[in-house]
Amino acid sequence: MILALLLLLAPVDRDVLLQLLAVDTSHGHETDALKPVLERFKAAGVPAQILESAPGRGNLIARIKGTGAQKPLLLLAHIDVVPVEGQKWNSPPFTPTEKDGYLTARGVTDDKAMAAAIVAVALELAAAPKKPSRDVIVALTSGEETGGIEGVQWLVKNHRDLIDAELALNEGGDIFLSTDLLHVQAVTLGVAEKTYKSFKLQTRGPGGHSSVPPTDKDAVLELARALVKVGEYRFPAHLIPEARDQVAAASRLEKPPLSEALASAARTAPRLSPLDEELISADRAYNAAIRTTCVATQLQGAPADNVLPTAPWAAINCRILPDETIAQTEERLKAAIGDAGVQVTQMDDLGPGGKVPLDGPVPLAVRAAAKKLWGDAPVVNALGFGASDSRYLREAGIASYGIDTAPTALEDIRRGFGAHAANERAPLKWLPAGTDFLREVVRELVK
Ligand SMILES: [Zn+2]
Repeated sequence: MILALLLLLAPVDRDVLLQLLAVDTSHGHETDALKPVLERFKAAGVPAQILESAPGRGNLIARIKGTGAQKPLLLLAHIDVVPVEGQKWNSPPFTPTEKDGYLTARGVTDDKAMAAAIVAVALELAAAPKKPSRDVIVALTSGEETGGIEGVQWLVKNHRDLIDAELALNEGGDIFLSTDLLHVQAVTLGVAEKTYKSFKLQTRGPGGHSSVPPTDKDAVLELARALVKVGEYRFPAHLIPEARDQVAAASRLEKPPLSEALASAARTAPRLSPLDEELISADRAYNAAIRTTCVATQLQGAPADNVLPTAPWAAINCRILPDETIAQTEERLKAAIGDAGVQVTQMDDLGPGGKVPLDGPVPLAVRAAAKKLWGDAPVVNALGFGASDSRYLREAGIASYGIDTAPTALEDIRRGFGAHAANERAPLKWLPAGTDFLREVVRELVK
């Protein structure tokens, strides 16, 4: 059934989005979602293929040939989604449902609307009489939510030639609407991400029966003391150029004295006065913008409650500012713990978050597109605290920027309807505007 507001969307956009949303890609099966898209590209005469990194874990690559005057542009979206188990949904999560002007379905904002917008814009480019000035590569990928191992990381390792580009547009930005959904308040452009890195803290003890606890040295207490030290440690604060814009923009949303501290920090960046640092650090969201953070997330002791553990451990998840290194962070953690009996080792390596130039073709194109569509809405550079597949592209030398094609109101996200949440939803009448935005940005980059 085609619902009333869905008709606002162009047919390609709408059909691709509904079809992608209807396939449960929360536990693999990306190939099933991608097959109809492959058929669309083939029918349009666009060279396209699905490459599987594992059974069912498809990655679709298509290429619109340009004149070659400029180096290629990559348009990236992931089509896996986070699971819905344990969440309370008011409608079946894999049956796109229109209600109260919203389209509700798992993945609608993260990241299937972007995938649909990319397909629509790419097919338009392919059908246009004028060739783009550069090849436009489409990559719709697997496994982003579980680290990109089956998707972008695999493509970079095994099919670099197929996705090699100068510039990339990926998720990682936002188009924020006013609470009444009447206008665009701000557009954020993802220009950097913190590096995701976990460390394992481990202590050792002889073990034995818990009826005769150790009286000299207790491995669990030693680990606990280390965790307290890590919890109380504050990494040095500074405001990097990539985060300056968002701190300045935040100063206009908050109340004094926080608003004044944010405005003042944006002026004195990269340095912060002790008072500004104190005020900003007290707010968890802004604290994460001005420093590397590390927090304990997992704890493991003995296999039974009456056994003394021989090697208890804890995981510390760090989000490292893009101008600091993993080695530097490890050294600071060790110094904060100050106990050679606590072993600190690195867990999985998912690569550095990376950053891209604040000036250049993509920032210019994004500003031009936002101005054309929404007039005075500011475009704000943003440092992402989370990790996206852009990190693999940036590490491979592809300047990957974060944008958005599913406008939402911040208030709606705060109320729990955002990405990864139950009842994830997007205001329907704004989805065409998201595609328009992508179209304008791409048009600027291929002219
Ligand atoms: Zn995503």
